[in-house]
Amino acid sequence: MSDIVEVSGLTVRYSGATALDGVDLTVGAGEMVALIGANGAGKSTLVKALSGLLEPDAGTVAVRGRLAQVPEGREMFGDLSVDDNLRLGGWRNGRHGRDTSAVYELFPELGGLRRRRAGTLSGGQQQMVAIGRALMARPDVLVIDELSLGLAPLVVTMLAGHLRQLHASRGLAVLLIEQNARLALELCDRAYVLEAGRIALHGTSADLARDARVTAAYLGGH
Ligand code: ATP
Repeated sequence: MSDIVEVSGLTVRYSGATALDGVDLTVGAGEMVALIGANGAGKSTLVKALSGLLEPDAGTVAVRGRLAQVPEGREMFGDLSVDDNLRLGGWRNGRHGRDTSAVYELFPELGGLRRRRAGTLSGGQQQMVAIGRALMARPDVLVIDELSLGLAPLVVTMLAGHLRQLHASRGLAVLLIEQNARLALELCDRAYVLEAGRIALHGTSADLARDARVTAAYLGGH
């Protein structure tokens, strides 16, 4: 399987403090991969390096294909309509970028809200708009920074179902950056555990879910 994302020996320092230290990570075409880590582990730094916002101090980041991000906190334009927010995601695609119908097919709930100001939507609806906006760029890989943040469990389950469907129907690759390890391991095939800037563990989700260190530190000991 060819890798869409290949991170190798990635090291990032902030004025002397090392945020990432030799991180190796891959996402294959059509694969769903999770990156799990506590607050301050270095997840946001990795996302910034992936999208080219940060220059690594060492190592390389290669993305083969188009990468689109669902940013932490969703970052809607709250005063713009749902439809305009979606179109902003497709601006690079010219005329095709204005066709939002596929997003409403994927998220029927948004259909009746297309003229609503995005800022008036619920957190779950905003997360659908954020995912839809990223899809408008027709990505090969979607990087989702904290899918579940601030959302009720039922809403997270619904969003996870949509992602599974997207993955199954379009073969979209996903890198899910999550504090909610249970969700990450349920949704993804493989996962990496980031601790203090280093990959402490990685493997299939099934293996990690049985790993005593993972259950103790990330799954509440069950
Ligand atoms: P969170 O979930 O809280 O966003 P994170 O896993 O995304 O955490 P990062 O934000 O990547 O972690 O931070 C990794 C480390 O780098 C932390 O120790 C953080 O304090 C430090 N750090 C992050 N940004 C900067 C910065 N601009 N200057 C200095 N140190 C920083």
